[in-house]
Amino acid sequence: MNSILKKYIISAAAVAAFGAIAEPSGDRPDATHAWSVHDPNRPNPASVVAEPGKPPSDAIVLFDGTEDSFRKNWSDAKGNPVKWKFSDGIVTCVPSGGGAQTVESFGDCQMHIEWKTPENMNRNTSNSGNSGVLFLDGLYEVQIFDSHNVAESRSLWKEGNYADGQAGAIYGQNPPIVQPCRKPGEWQTFDIVFHPPIYDGKRLVDPGSATVFFNGVLVQDCFPFQGRTGWCRRFPHINKSAGKIVLQNHGCPVSFRNIWLRKIPSRFADTVNGGLGLKMGDVAALRHKLAGESLALADEATDPAEKYIRLWEAYCYEPDREIAAKIRAAEPDCIAAYKGKKDSLADKHRREAFVRFIKMLVSSKWMSRASLMKKAL
Ligand code: MG
Repeated sequence: MNSILKKYIISAAAVAAFGAIAEPSGDRPDATHAWSVHDPNRPNPASVVAEPGKPPSDAIVLFDGTEDSFRKNWSDAKGNPVKWKFSDGIVTCVPSGGGAQTVESFGDCQMHIEWKTPENMNRNTSNSGNSGVLFLDGLYEVQIFDSHNVAESRSLWKEGNYADGQAGAIYGQNPPIVQPCRKPGEWQTFDIVFHPPIYDGKRLVDPGSATVFFNGVLVQDCFPFQGRTGWCRRFPHINKSAGKIVLQNHGCPVSFRNIWLRKIPSRFADTVNGGLGLKMGDVAALRHKLAGESLALADEATDPAEKYIRLWEAYCYEPDREIAAKIRAAEPDCIAAYKGKKDSLADKHRREAFVRFIKMLVSSKWMSRASLMKKAL
């Protein structure tokens, strides 16, 4: 890149900030960033309504307290209705009634579930509140258990279970970081972010993970699965990207309410915004596309400042000589508009924003102090 081109390098966001009178932004796109910092062309996230105590508006409600909603979303392992008990907006596991699994299969997801173990439970006869939320057809379990007040137990016959089998554990693999379990009979919450393992053919690319908030307390911090979970053994992974979510029946009448789930993207699905799935070829392709869109907008623009800005934007995404030449060609009209207080630059606030962004370009050494535009201000 020659020095003439270099002096024109600026942030696309800085340029486009002119219209919105936003502060000029920082670093521009590069090989691993399709967008500049604070790029106003970057798509906004979809809106989600999140009211206190309610599932987010994009959630799939798996149990809203009605028997109908449970019947619609859950079945037993054979696809038949689950023989569990319903009362007062709660569903309770019946030890003889088998497990419950979702009708639909899920992969990457955020799940909310509320549960309680029975009050006045006899730990010797009720499996200590044992249940669990298991993902991918039962392969990966976040344990449900009565683990209230068990942290200090050192007994060989440990009352309240081993550490990697307590409530909030990734069963058999990782104890919860801390143990915030409430008393039996009190409602507890899990908020789980689950990512399944990722395979490339037969090669395990990522082991998947679980993040768990237990009663609002972080107990699993993006824990990478060591394999599928299970009793007493270390098991290998199984190549599966989606499966039914299972509520375990371990012979204890554990109750559930307010179950909802949001599907979330795989961490490998986004190939242009950094992160695990980044592909530089996709970044380059997106920058090329964005440059084309900005050039098209520049061609349509009748306002000289808007044309000038759009050309800078295009150059930022994809610096090349042709675009630099167009910027130089558009510069005299933009300067005339500025000096004559014409067109969009007749507006006081836009004019101020325009000056601010030119000054930022100069102070950042993206625009030469000797440039025609700088001299015109
Ligand atoms: Mg269990």
